[in-house]
Amino acid sequence: MKIIGNAKGQVTGVEVARVDRKRQPIEGTEFVIKADLVLLAIGFAHPVHEGMLAELGAKHDTRGNLLADTFSYKTTVDKVFAAGDMRRGQSLVVWAIREGRQAARAIDLELMGRTDLPR
Ligand SMILES: Cc1cc2nc3c(=O)[nH]c(=O)nc-3n(C[C@H](O)[C@H](O)[C@H](O)COP(=O)(O)OP(=O)(O)OC[C@H]3O[C@@H](n4cnc5c(N)ncnc54)[C@H](O)[C@@H]3O)c2cc1C
Repeated sequence: MKIIGNAKGQVTGVEVARVDRKRQPIEGTEFVIKADLVLLAIGFAHPVHEGMLAELGAKHDTRGNLLADTFSYKTTVDKVFAAGDMRRGQSLVVWAIREGRQAARAIDLELMGRTDLPR
């Protein structure tokens, strides 16, 4: 919920709350965990929207990942393709490799009108 600090600007704790199935805080469940160091370990969230993605204006799905199918790998912006974690959400390296290969094929097909790359 928030990081708590003292007048010297030092961290003293973190206020947290239990969440429901939609990861929304449940009122009345807030409590404080004492801490003097806080590391944000949020690598399993969707890609950062601010900056490039916002400027592109590409639509994202309900989980915040870029909207693109697994055949054309096209996003909602012309000539912009997405594959891997950015498209499917946090996953495994093998999926990123597979999607990268398939996206390369889709892009080749789009640019050249034909492709010899395997799907
Ligand atoms: C903590 C952690 C542990 C994991 N452990 C495993 C595991 O044990 N086994 C497994 O199979 N998978 C694991 N994964 C998942 C795996 O790492 C990912 O699924 C995989 O790396 C996704 O590959 P990707 O190419 O789609 O994205 P990434 O590997 O994230 O590559 C995206 C690249 O784009 C760059 N980038 C981002 N924004 C910009 C920008 N605006 N301009 C230029 N470059 C940009 C990033 O710096 C990054 O290099 C783990 C992931 C995490 C976070």
